[in-house]
Order: sequence, then C-alpha cells, then structure tokens
Amino acid sequence: MPHLITTSDLTNDEVLTLFDDAFLFQDLQSNNILEGKLVVTVFFENSTRTRSSFEIAAKRLGAQVVNLEVQTSSTKKGETVEDTVANLNAMKPDAIIIRHSKCGLPASLIDYVDCPILNAGDGKNAHPTQALLDLFTIYEHFNKDIKNKKIAIVGDIKTSRVASSNLELLPRFEITPILVAPEHFMPESDFKKVRFLKEVIDEVDIVMSLRTQLERHDQQYYQTLEDFGKDYCITKDIFGNRDILLLHPGPVNRNIDISDEMLNDPRSKVLRQVSNGVAIRMAILKKLILDN
Ligand code: ASP
Repeated sequence: MPHLITTSDLTNDEVLTLFDDAFLFQDLQSNNILEGKLVVTVFFENSTRTRSSFEIAAKRLGAQVVNLEVQTSSTKKGETVEDTVANLNAMKPDAIIIRHSKCGLPASLIDYVDCPILNAGDGKNAHPTQALLDLFTIYEHFNKDIKNKKIAIVGDIKTSRVASSNLELLPRFEITPILVAPEHFMPESDFKKVRFLKEVIDEVDIVMSLRTQLERHDQQYYQTLEDFGKDYCITKDIFGNRDILLLHPGPVNRNIDISDEMLNDPRSKVLRQVSNGVAIRMAILKKLILDN
C-alpha cells in the first residue's frame, strides 16, 4: 500500500513523474479520473491552504470528499486518534488525509487502514506535499533547470515542518540550502548556516521565508513578532534588483516575514505556490489512489 508520510517515500523518478502530471493539471480544471472515489480529511491542527487545497484537488479529479469536523468528533469524547481513523477506515474511503500536532502520528496509523494515508503535516516533523509544491514551483520557474541552484531558507527553521521536508527533498535535486536564522531558530545541520540574509543574498537564486511557529515554542524568544521582523523581514532593501525567486508556504505574517511591497513584487510567487499546490495534490491523489 503506498502512503505519503514524508518526501522520502517517493523516489526522484516518482517526483518527476508527479511533476509531469502536475503540469497537465495546472489549469485546475475538472476531470473524472477519480470518479466514484472517496477521500476523507481529518485535520487536528488549523489549516487554510492545505485542507482546502486537498479538497479542491480531490473534487477537481471527480472524487467526493468528507471532512471530519474534529472539534465536534468523538475524539472530544475520549476516543483515540487511532480508533477514530480505524473507524473511518471501516467506511471504506479511498484515501485518508491527516494533520496532527504529534510528530510521527500519520506514520503510526498505517497499520489501522486499508487505504493510502497522506500526511498533511505532523508537528514540526514533515509536510511532504508542501515541499513537493515548493520544488515544483522552483522547477517551473527555472524551466526545469534546477541543478546547482542555491536557496536561502529564512526564519524559524528549527520548528518548521516545511523546512524539514524541503531539507530532505531539495538536495536530492542538487539544490543547495543555506540556513538563515538566529541561533534559537537554527536546527542542527550540516548545511551552511548564516545569521543574516544579507551575508548570502548575492549567491542565492531562491529565498524561502518562513513564519515563526509560535504554537510550537515553549518559551518566548521575542517580545513581539515585530522585533523578529526587524532583522528577518524580506524587503526591497535586501532584495534590490537581484533576480531571486521569493517563496513562502503561508500563512504570511505581513511586514514581519515579507514586506507588503515584496509580496506584490513579481519575484514573489507565493500565490503561484498555492495554485501549484492544488495541481501537485491532484497528481499525488491520482498516484496514490490509482496505484493502490
Ligand atoms: N502552512 C505551513 C504548515 O502548516 C506553514 C506554517 O504554518 O507556517 O506548516
């Protein structure tokens, strides 16, 4: 049974085949590839983009979608997540998409299901479809010529599952990450590390800005987010006229992660990432459900 728990579940060839499909789905028009199939989403953490993106992707492929309303579900009556998922599985869905704050939870559910599990984010551990859509956006932008590109990943890298999945996936395609963060947001890593973006701005092709993951901090690092933004906000001042692709997984804290001006700048592909996210999720749902 194929699942998508981390990006390492896919070979490079499988990733490139997904990208071929995602290019075909990029107009986000409807088809009937998954007609008669049923997808269940179970989100124990907040989500705007990922949940709606998966739902739209499934519906564009002709599948039906059931969203479990976690707030009013029986987990609130004491049922374990494993039992909740085993019960959903007993209703014979064709895929279960799950987000949870506990690292490793989606992987632990594999033994309870007969259909693919798709990890939509587990704590700070992994967010595989986000990394796939990020790489796809890079691949599209550089007309598939991504070898030897350098990406600065900026901000709260340590508790970001987006960073963690990108740090697994991008180097496999010979994209070199440079980690840009204050000490308390810097993970242990062999990749090049610098404190400020200006130290490497002349050598990077891509900048990925990250939101500060306040919900995962056990202590307060800044008096206010504005204090963090003073050093780490992506502004026109830092970018100048350089030809750099600007990415962010969302939600963006405006003028803290990225300035209004840079969000409106043509070098920012933040909304392109969102559209590409639907195309990538269409490709992955198609693969996992039909290969099954
Ligand atoms: N939306 C992404 C995630 O769920 C990034 C973020 O929340 O900052 O991890």
